[in-house]
Amino acid sequence: MAQTNYTLDHLQQSLEIKDIPTEWEQVKAGLKEGFMFYVIDANGIILSTNSKFLERSEWTPKRVIGKSIWQLLPDEESSRHKGHQILQHLERGSVWQGSLEKCTKSGLSYWVQILAIPICDEDDTVQHSYIIEEEITDKKTMQTKLEEAAYVDLETGLLSRYKMEEIMKEQLTQKVEFTYVLLSIDKFYTLKELMNEQHEETLLHEFTQLLKKYFPDSEIGRMGRNEFALITPLSDWYIQGFSDFLKANPVYIEAKSVALSVSGSMTRYPDDQKTLHHIVEAAHNSLQRVKQQGGNLITTLPKDAHSKLSRRVEIEKELLIALDQQHLEVVYLPIIDTASKRVTSFEALVRWESDVLGQVSPEELIPIAEQTGLINDIGTFVLEKSCLQAADWHRQGYDIKVNVNLSVREFHDKNMARTVIKILQQTGCPANRLQIEITEKFALEAEAEKTIIEQMHALNREGVRFVLDDFGSGYASLRYLQLLPIESLKIDRVFIQAMTQNDKVMRLIKGMVSLGHSLQIRVLAEGIETEQQAKQLQAMGCDGLQGFHISKPLKVSELSAYFQ
Ligand code: C2E
Ligand code: MG
Ligand code: MG
Repeated sequence: MAQTNYTLDHLQQSLEIKDIPTEWEQVKAGLKEGFMFYVIDANGIILSTNSKFLERSEWTPKRVIGKSIWQLLPDEESSRHKGHQILQHLERGSVWQGSLEKCTKSGLSYWVQILAIPICDEDDTVQHSYIIEEEITDKKTMQTKLEEAAYVDLETGLLSRYKMEEIMKEQLTQKVEFTYVLLSIDKFYTLKELMNEQHEETLLHEFTQLLKKYFPDSEIGRMGRNEFALITPLSDWYIQGFSDFLKANPVYIEAKSVALSVSGSMTRYPDDQKTLHHIVEAAHNSLQRVKQQGGNLITTLPKDAHSKLSRRVEIEKELLIALDQQHLEVVYLPIIDTASKRVTSFEALVRWESDVLGQVSPEELIPIAEQTGLINDIGTFVLEKSCLQAADWHRQGYDIKVNVNLSVREFHDKNMARTVIKILQQTGCPANRLQIEITEKFALEAEAEKTIIEQMHALNREGVRFVLDDFGSGYASLRYLQLLPIESLKIDRVFIQAMTQNDKVMRLIKGMVSLGHSLQIRVLAEGIETEQQAKQLQAMGCDGLQGFHISKPLKVSELSAYFQ
């Protein structure tokens, strides 16, 4: 791999281009025509692409610009590692070449050969990088097919992933009980970095021998660079004993002993999961949990976690289809302004009635969407729908705003403010008709991230207002009330529900109202279910009220009563 610092000049010199810029333009045009091609900034954010790239990756220019390259890669440790490697190379000003697995917008995998070229300015600071890609899926498929034919992993001699799945399918058909164990060597990538390629081979070889020695009668497979699996009838305690066995049997690399430890998950058929897809997903998910908690443990998940996982796997799968086929809906919850006694805004809430899973509540949906990254797609969908709605009210002469809930994860995208402004323009919604609701958790994270604060201020300058949702629900720092452009705060439902029975809660609410007002922040209350609550909150000086006592969330077709 070259270690030169590349600038356009270097590139032009190395390509012996004399007639700048025409020849260079021709080379660029040729590259663009012949290859998938895109440009990323120093943080890996996509700045532009050619149509070949869009076609293969299934992204539209509107969606992909501003996304980070992570969204083009499968959500796996080995991919993340390679992604980091590429970015580190580019950051140093070095060209990176190699093969990489990617995934399309709908999650389908394909392989490319990459040439990544950093473009530096006179100070050798990387401005952006050109990524040129050629698809090699066929070549990879051929290689996989050869491996499948041989049923073995060529590097370790263990069974291939394909063969392991075949064995599991067979056992499922014959209803033979087994435990699927997924193992990964802790700190593998750190160990790898400390060693050269040959040592990595020795490490893998030694580890394989230990697996074979401890589990002589089990099926053992290699599932990824650092992922091994067993299909075994052995008991949990025996499998867990592998950790002690590793401690007692260090591997030797160049005469130095290295004590390995592993993270592992055990998924039992039929007790924990019943289909191949669910077994594999559950194993993968519980292994991630073990790693997140520090590793060095082989464990199994409790029963309720397994049933939650199965539902989660289904939700992830169905949500992709629902987003693609626009099966989500938006309902609107009226908010009354206490001074004018009129509805002055509606809170937009996402709804999903899945054909397969039934009603999936936002409380279940949003956390899963946040973890899988699909929250951005939900956010854009709800924003587009609600801004169209608000634009319509505006055109009809109604001064009514729309409140949209956004998650902090969406604001981690550096282009979020730009996306919101674009949606406002495209839908014809005036910026001052949009209010963004953020939760306290969001505010706490925003406080620590300058780019989020800046984006919020940028939107605020355009006229977009921010509401602090679920106020009082658990995060003590109030610094964000100073730092963030918050116009209203919404007292959390739990206070409202407890207020009539508890005098202390009443006083707390009064305190929140005067805190808000002293900072010139409007104070709203949510979750109002009785006339008594509404009256008391109004008497305490709340500026806005919402809750089932006023109305349940309504479909667009049910809103006509408010527009006559
Ligand atoms: P939230 O933003 O605090 O929304 C208010 C929630 O309280 C809604 O639940 C609403 O249906 C419910 N609610 C309103 N009045 C009453 C009442 O009087 N009594 C009771 N028991 N509940 C009431 P929903 O729609 O299930 O949403 C739950 C949460 O999910 C929302 O809390 C919000 O944080 C999140 N959410 C909903 N839609 C979206 C969305 O499009 N994007 C994001 N990021 N989050 C959303
Ligand atoms: Mg809300
Ligand atoms: Mg709330």
